[in-house]
Amino acid sequence: MKKIAVLLVLVLAAIACATNPYTGKSTMALVNNDSLLASSFSQYRQFLNESTVITGTAEAVMVDRVGGRIRQAAEKWAASSGQSAYLDKYQWEYHLVRSNEVNAWCMPGGKIVVYTGILPVTGDEEGLAVVLGHEVAHALLNHGQQRASAGVLQQAGAVGVGVLTAGKSQAAQELAQAAYGTGSTVMGTLPFSRSHESEADHIGLILMAIAGYNPDLSVTFWERMSALGGGGTPQFLSTHPSDETRISSLRGWIPEARQKAGEIGVIR
Ligand SMILES: [Zn+2]
Repeated sequence: MKKIAVLLVLVLAAIACATNPYTGKSTMALVNNDSLLASSFSQYRQFLNESTVITGTAEAVMVDRVGGRIRQAAEKWAASSGQSAYLDKYQWEYHLVRSNEVNAWCMPGGKIVVYTGILPVTGDEEGLAVVLGHEVAHALLNHGQQRASAGVLQQAGAVGVGVLTAGKSQAAQELAQAAYGTGSTVMGTLPFSRSHESEADHIGLILMAIAGYNPDLSVTFWERMSALGGGGTPQFLSTHPSDETRISSLRGWIPEARQKAGEIGVIR
């Protein structure tokens, strides 16, 4: 019985692999994307309802502008390899929310929140572009979904194979919830793996360059963060790679980001 369950999981894993337009890599997607997005959209709505959303200020306008440019970059990049359909189900939104917490995140389907508490840390528009490029990259690369899929594999024995294919089952919703959490703890309690962090830095840098921002400023931003020291590092970044590793990786990727942006076209 156990053998059959394992076999089914392996078969499902094989058929559920999808190629990502940003990495060209095949990734595991056991949790149905439609149910994940539906869950993401409703959680986002709920979060906004329970928060103070700021509109009309210079800062809110900046969040809208940076979010919009990163979105355009993601669309331009996908279109450049004929994979625009990948973003069909995205419903992009960018909101500035009043909170002292130093945080920003992007839920599946392009649902972005920036907390007012992060703005003194990001400083200028380019700093915010570094952070949003990184967070949007997590969403585009389905990192949350992969985390949920890993959860499914772990739990497969207990919950049975049926739930893996159920479109909007309670289990799928709970997994989505577990993968993303809600409210202010969204990215804090469930850190991404180190390799996901590094990948989000890499893809985020290219997004930033296509969006028309100077990728050199990602290094400037991280040097500034590093100067704040351990105690000053915001919680949502504390699980990320060490500053030194991150900065040297980013430096290495800058020529590629420039070249790619040149090929794909830079948003002006
Ligand atoms: Zn991250």
